[in-house]
Amino acid sequence: MRKPVIAGNWKLFKTISESVALVDALKPIVDKTRSVEIVVAPVFTALSRVSEAIAGSNINLSAQNCFWEEEGAFTGEVAPKLLKDVGCSYVIIGHSERRQYFGDTDLSVNKKVKAAVSADLTPIVCVGETLAERESGSTFTVIEAQVKNSLTGIPAEVVARLIIAYEPVWAIGTGKTASDEQAQEVHLFIRELVARLFSPDAANKVRILYGGSVKPDNVKGLMAQPDIDGALVGGASLKADSFASIVNYAAS
Ligand code: PEP
Repeated sequence: MRKPVIAGNWKLFKTISESVALVDALKPIVDKTRSVEIVVAPVFTALSRVSEAIAGSNINLSAQNCFWEEEGAFTGEVAPKLLKDVGCSYVIIGHSERRQYFGDTDLSVNKKVKAAVSADLTPIVCVGETLAERESGSTFTVIEAQVKNSLTGIPAEVVARLIIAYEPVWAIGTGKTASDEQAQEVHLFIRELVARLFSPDAANKVRILYGGSVKPDNVKGLMAQPDIDGALVGGASLKADSFASIVNYAAS
């Protein structure tokens, strides 16, 4: 029904040659995998060479961010159509590190999602609460506002094709994973919210990934949850063997 997606966010790691070496090492260990959509998100400067290295393989390319305008006097920005041009089919939008350090807001995320969709990219839209928000009991209020405001004005049939990544900020890069039940509870909440805001069909089709210290030893439990459709993986995606074990979670 919903094909699982395992996406590796390489963040600000790896030179061009290290990036190519990583996909070259990954290719032979995941080449039989058909049941999972495999995505890697290198830094901008490595996209072109990684795109060439994965041509003809079952690995797909993502960027880690984009701008919302197509072109113009916007020094330092990269437009979705240029990401498409370099071979991306996905783009991560609104990662918590971008919200925390680079001023991304639900409003800018919304503009980026619309621009990415217009350029025929699949956005991976990130949402997630901080530890303070979880501890004060506002997780669902925060997630509801992020989903609603990030996706406002997008038609239900487009929402159906999006990917949402639920990434509790307190679990990113900390080694603390949400329990299977904690993650499932929020994923179900997001799916029911999408049904309410858009349509039951969009809710049924939209893929919701979990992100936050996903590792080979915890992926299986997370993937067994009915509303978890994949994982957005940071640290463990930087080595071919650990990322491949996550991709091949069903085989372990
Ligand atoms: C991420 O970068 O989106 C992430 C979830 O990182 P990590 O897996 O390292 O927690």
